[in-house]
Amino acid sequence: MSSITVQPPKCLQKTFVAPRRHMFGPGPSNVPPRILAAGAEPIIGHMHPEMLEIMSDIKSGIQYAFQTQNNMTIAVSGTGHTAMECAIFNAVEPGEGVLTAVNGIWGERAAEMAERIGARVNSIVTTAGGYFTSEEIDRALAKHKPVLFFLTHGESSTGVVHPLDGIGDICHKHNCLFLVDCVASMGGAPLHMDKQGIDILYSGSQKVLNAPPGTAPISFSERACQKVFNRKTKPVSFFLDMTWLANYWGCDGKPARIYHHTAPVSAFYSLRESLAILAEQGLENSWRRHKEVAEYFHEGLENMGLKLFVKDKNARLPTVTTIVAPPGYDWKEITSYIMKNHNLEISGGLGPSVGQVLRVGLMGGNSSKASVDMVLEALRDALRYCHKSKV
Ligand code: PMP
Repeated sequence: MSSITVQPPKCLQKTFVAPRRHMFGPGPSNVPPRILAAGAEPIIGHMHPEMLEIMSDIKSGIQYAFQTQNNMTIAVSGTGHTAMECAIFNAVEPGEGVLTAVNGIWGERAAEMAERIGARVNSIVTTAGGYFTSEEIDRALAKHKPVLFFLTHGESSTGVVHPLDGIGDICHKHNCLFLVDCVASMGGAPLHMDKQGIDILYSGSQKVLNAPPGTAPISFSERACQKVFNRKTKPVSFFLDMTWLANYWGCDGKPARIYHHTAPVSAFYSLRESLAILAEQGLENSWRRHKEVAEYFHEGLENMGLKLFVKDKNARLPTVTTIVAPPGYDWKEITSYIMKNHNLEISGGLGPSVGQVLRVGLMGGNSSKASVDMVLEALRDALRYCHKSKV
């Protein structure tokens, strides 16, 4: 008699094939065949010399994408949220002050993460679609005296690209580290980690880089390292402890690497390939293309009578566009119609923008005029066929 009480599931007998879709939401974006192929290469050991070389290549690629010379530059095994927690958990000790700039969901999430480790958290808040002046930030830093200030460069929930120039200096004047989220902006909008005085910067693999979700670039300045590596308490997370990760990534100058966790080998292959493509194309070309394509898209939307959610043209994020949800329509019906009839993902709002916007992400290889034409056509079609609803 068999000891098995749970039978092999019938659903697993079916062959799995992933649908082919235009991934024009705020992420993940489409992964081009070259990056998919890199991820399908055979597995090697996570401590094999070839793997250590791949990690070193990834480090160089991130330094280029972030425009930094920081030695403490790695990819975290996990998504953007993992890098967010890595930054906060390592830089902040219980009882210390954190200030977050909230102009969308990411500042809210950073505040929640900092609260969970027992930090004293304050936030400055502005309306969805808005951003902060340097004076507002200066005043809040003077008032709350935090050790860390969090700001989102590309606010994907509202479609705002936040100005960064000068904020690093303001933070340093107040003896505070400057933490920036560039998950939705890296590679798609100008960003200079060193020149802009950013102390901790993190991103994700699945947006402009067009790699599969699951790896997250992060970098720490010398100033950030001083704080991170001179803590009185250990960070709450073993997995995200930068003392371990620094060794694992060969950033601590020690001759031997110690096993910390099994790297997601295939995900690192893909990430390496995505960074190689960005390096080949050139960062400035990528920034320029995203801007031109976004402007072409915005013009097309306005010509259709749709309104852009971010009024200030200079504050529009080139990677993720927020469109005011067309009055009289149910936004969910529009996104479902487009998915069903055009095999194309666009999404609704997130956090404070829920119900207010449609969001379209055109990132990396998806940032092209051909993609824009496809989205405009799908929207035109949806507005013709979706019901004018009661909501
Ligand atoms: N920050 C921003 C600005 C993002 O757009 C996202 C992803 N939407 C994240 C953080 C979180 O990344 P992930 O979903 O990969 O955890």
